[in-house]
Amino acid sequence: GSVDAEYDMVVLGAGPGGYSAAFRAADLGLKTAIIERYATLGGVCLNVGCIPSKALLHVAAVIEEAEHVGAAGIGFAKPSVDVDALRKHKDGVIGKLTGGLAGMAKARKVDVIRGYGNFLDPHHIEVEETTGSGWDTTGAKKVVKFKNCIIAAGSAAVHLPFIPKDPRIVDSTGALELRQVPGKMLVIGGGIIGLEMATVYSTLGTRLDVVEMMDGLMQGPDRDAVKVWEKQNAHRFDKIMLKTKTVGVEAKDDGIYVTFEGDGAPAEPVKYDMVLQSAGRSPNGNKISADKAGVVVGERGFIPVDAQMRTNVPHIFAIGDIVGQPMLAHKAVHEAHVAAEVAAGHKAAFDATVIPGVAYTHPEVAWVGYTEAQAKAEGKKVETAKFPWAASGRAIANGADYGFTKLIFDAETHRVIGGTIVGPSAGDMIGEVCLAIEMGADTVDIGKTIHPHPTLGETVGMAAEVAHGSCTDLP
Ligand code: FAD
Repeated sequence: GSVDAEYDMVVLGAGPGGYSAAFRAADLGLKTAIIERYATLGGVCLNVGCIPSKALLHVAAVIEEAEHVGAAGIGFAKPSVDVDALRKHKDGVIGKLTGGLAGMAKARKVDVIRGYGNFLDPHHIEVEETTGSGWDTTGAKKVVKFKNCIIAAGSAAVHLPFIPKDPRIVDSTGALELRQVPGKMLVIGGGIIGLEMATVYSTLGTRLDVVEMMDGLMQGPDRDAVKVWEKQNAHRFDKIMLKTKTVGVEAKDDGIYVTFEGDGAPAEPVKYDMVLQSAGRSPNGNKISADKAGVVVGERGFIPVDAQMRTNVPHIFAIGDIVGQPMLAHKAVHEAHVAAEVAAGHKAAFDATVIPGVAYTHPEVAWVGYTEAQAKAEGKKVETAKFPWAASGRAIANGADYGFTKLIFDAETHRVIGGTIVGPSAGDMIGEVCLAIEMGADTVDIGKTIHPHPTLGETVGMAAEVAHGSCTDLP
């Protein structure tokens, strides 16, 4: 067939993985195009993920803080909530960022091809032009030829098969649209995305139930951190149903009736005004005709790659949510740079030791590397040092004395191999622990680093001091 355009590098998908890969490839001299079905660049993260959720969580945190200063003698009226204005504010934040990306693509002469891409063979992708929100097609088709390709097609929310279609039943994308502030909402899945959205809605006035199949909310960080989070957030929830499954959902005129099964299941169906499905995300590997290019896709839709981010077809790479867990934007960006650099002939490989995780809730929970539980499960000889924020001047001044900073380190070498922080701004602070682990720092390195006083970040240094004691001789 005929070819409409030809490139050194074609990137499929314009999420944080895709645009980072395209920009790096262009910077390294490759003639580059991005294929994207959405009208804007930025993918899930900018349009319906990381950024809109944080715009709303910021507002929620300000409301929470305002309540906190009540104890300091400062009174505010009950906040009035204009959902339309709030939605506009959030859309404005997204607009600034996606507009910025479009400008960056233009400056680098990266072509943006709007449409849905499917492989035709190992060197061609057919793009069907999309309009509107990105699912409607105009019927127009283009064939794009590539020397190298990076698949960055991301993931989509899992929808439970027995749940009916109803405007009151949403996934994270629907929840971020903020169409209403329901009286009572059920959150299916107690992971980070569900709990972040729960925080937003509850601060706006919604009562919450959450149902989770596992025996605890927020799988990932150590339970001591989650306990702190639970205590601070108990007021938001009517019921936290653990080891419980959602088995039936019925949409009636007066509400959504949900039936549960398991340890926390009520005997009767419970009525909700809104239901949020946040029971995980599944990779888009089976939606791009990868087989036509000879690219192997794993059982669950993930595409296997090597340390250079190559698929089994050497000139086709894959990055981001579509290659595996953790499905996080900063992992996608790191992988993007590796793939683009390798494609441009540079020596690069994915050799990051750790990938941090953060729940941007109130308080935040951040963790990186080994958790205590994981070290124990692996029989690793570790020690931990925990600094309670009740001993931090800044945390007390900020009303955050419930938090803590914990370091996990090798019992013999004292090298730091993990960290967990719970409290406001924990996500901003965990970066220091990431750097410590990547550089092979030990607790003395961190403890003898002078941190600014009084800051929450100082608690990382203080935890390290707990670890190495008050006095260490110079070598
Ligand atoms: P995506 O961002 O999923 O982008 C893939 C893009 O490819 C999409 O734009 C899609 O339209 C396009 N596409 C797919 N198939 C095709 C095709 N065939 N043709 C054309 N285009 C196609 N991560 C964090 O690190 N921090 C957070 O705070 C955070 N918050 C989140 C909050 C929510 C509500 C959600 C849902 C996710 C959040 N994540 C967060 C996860 C983060 O959004 C993802 O890890 C990240 O977006 C993955 O990037 P990606 O480049 O792999 O793919």
